[in-house]
Amino acid sequence: DEQEDAGPVEAHSAVKPMTGTEVKVNVSIPEAAERAAATGADGVGLLRIEHMILSTDKTPSRYVEDHGERAYVDEIVEGVRSVAEAFYPRPVRVRTLDAPSDEFRQLQGGEDEPSEHNPMLGYRGIRRSLDRPGEFKLELRAFERLYDLGYDNVELMLPLVTDAEDILRAKALMQEVGIDPEKRDWGVMVETPASALSIEDICEAGIDFVSFGTNDLTQYTLAVDRNNGNVADRFDELHPAVLELMRQVIGTCREHDVATSICGQAASKPQMVDFLVDEGVTSISPNIDAVRDVQHEVKRVEQRLLLESVR
Ligand code: PEP
Ligand code: MG
Repeated sequence: DEQEDAGPVEAHSAVKPMTGTEVKVNVSIPEAAERAAATGADGVGLLRIEHMILSTDKTPSRYVEDHGERAYVDEIVEGVRSVAEAFYPRPVRVRTLDAPSDEFRQLQGGEDEPSEHNPMLGYRGIRRSLDRPGEFKLELRAFERLYDLGYDNVELMLPLVTDAEDILRAKALMQEVGIDPEKRDWGVMVETPASALSIEDICEAGIDFVSFGTNDLTQYTLAVDRNNGNVADRFDELHPAVLELMRQVIGTCREHDVATSICGQAASKPQMVDFLVDEGVTSISPNIDAVRDVQHEVKRVEQRLLLESVR
C-alpha cells in the first residue's frame, strides 16, 4: 500500500538528509569578498581575523600601544564589514585570532611574544586568547559592534579548542562584552583530537556549529607537523583515523542539532566531499577556486544517495 511505498525513503531521510549540503567559501582577505560572493556560495565558512592584524605588521599589543584600542577594534570591524556586506544576508563565519607565536614574533612588538620550540603545540588560538582576555575582548567588541551595525549574518568561531572548558571560558568573555550567545550563531573549530573526543560536552556548551580544521586535525591526529617537509608524504587528511574522528563528531552533532562543516584545505578534495556528504555534513567550505567543483561534486553524491534510497 501507499505507506509501504513511502517507507524506505522516509526511514532513510529521518536519519540523513539526502540533499541540501551547503557549499560555502573561505575568504582569505577582505579584498576577495566580491569575487567570493559572486561564486554563488551559500556563505563564508572561514574568514580569518589575523590577516587584518598581521597586515599592519604589528602584534596586537603593539598596535594598541601605538594607535589605541578603538583603532584596533575599527581595524577588525572594517575588515569583517566588507565581507559581511558582500555576502549579506548569507552567513559569514569569522574566526578569532589564531596565529602561532613564531608568526607574531616576526612583527613589530614580536619580542614580547613567547619564543617556543614547538609553536604548533603552544601558545595559539583560543589558548592565547584566554591568556590575554583584555586583548581578546577587543576582538569580541568588534563582533558586538558589527551586530549593532546590523550585520546579524556574522558568526563567531573559536579556533583550536581542546574541550568544553575552553569554550565556556570564552563564552563568559563574550557575555562580559555584551554578546548574548543565545541570540547569536557561534561555534568552534574541531581541529584537535581532544575536541573531537569531547564533542558531546562541547555540544552541550551551547554552540550552534562546529567546523573541521582538517589541516590541524590531521597534523595532531597523525603527529605530522604540517610544515615539516620530511614527513609531508605522511600528511593525509583522508587517513582512516582522521575520518573516524570526523564521523564520530558528525554523528554526535546531529543528535544535538549542532551544524557541521569543514573549512580546512581538504574541503576541495572530491573523496573528502563524498565522505562528508555521505555522513550528513551540513556544509563544506573550500577555497574560492574550488567552489564550482565542490558544488558539482556535492550534487553528484546527493543524486547517488537519492537513487540508493529509493532502490
Ligand atoms: C585548519 O586547521 O584546517 C584551518 C582551517 O585553520 P588554519 O589552517 O588557519 O590553522
Ligand atoms: Mg587550524
